[in-house]
Amino acid sequence: MRKALVAGNWKMNGRADANGELVAQVLAGLDAQIDTDSVDVMVFPPSIYISQVVSLSGGRLGVGAQNLCEFAEGAFTGELSAGMLVDAGCSAVLIGHSERRSLFGDTDTRVAAKVEAALAADLIPVLCLGESLEQRDSGEALNVVAEQLRLATENLTVEQIARVVFAYEPVWAIGTGRTATPEQAQEVHAHLRGQLQQIDSDIAAKARILYGGSCNPANAAELFAQADIDGGLIGGASLKANDFVAICQAA
Ligand code: PGA
Repeated sequence: MRKALVAGNWKMNGRADANGELVAQVLAGLDAQIDTDSVDVMVFPPSIYISQVVSLSGGRLGVGAQNLCEFAEGAFTGELSAGMLVDAGCSAVLIGHSERRSLFGDTDTRVAAKVEAALAADLIPVLCLGESLEQRDSGEALNVVAEQLRLATENLTVEQIARVVFAYEPVWAIGTGRTATPEQAQEVHAHLRGQLQQIDSDIAAKARILYGGSCNPANAAELFAQADIDGGLIGGASLKANDFVAICQAA
């Protein structure tokens, strides 16, 4: 009943020329190989290229931003508001990616404010959650992600939570080539869905929970076959059209 979603997080990669080629190749792959009735495909380019990718994709790819400012406007040099992202053609925004949390000061409080700002502008927040290697090794993974989920959603209404997409991205698996096993990922996804169940059973049944962290064409099918994994948030492999299309096919 849940439609899969595969989202490419380009991070700080790509230039105008390369973006043109990548989008053209992904669109060709979509036409030839992907059943868009069963999977939604989105890309998250660097913000400066959002308008370019929106116009290149002609509405056939969802386009989102990798971050936003929690405030609507004002003296926040270098920041972009939710409304500006909407103007650029975004339909979604990543929030709380571990690189934002660890390198750019996105605390749980700020993540919660960003989710609210996205929802207020009708952007889909793709809320990223995940434990560090230390937290996993000390047996805290489930508690850590549940607490991140709680803090990001505690001020939201049930209707608002229903509009959030979740992405479980264990920090130790991001960009490391070390993927969570399907069983490890499924355990966390099931736990997150269980937390949502306590809020509302309909939301829990419908929520899309993506897996991210060294997902590639070789491991995607097995990950996506898990009961509570509804697609992927793809970093490195989303920069290679063939790999990204193969991952979309696996969903
Ligand atoms: P990766 O990144 O696929 O390169 O591990 C995933 C992410 O950070 O979203």
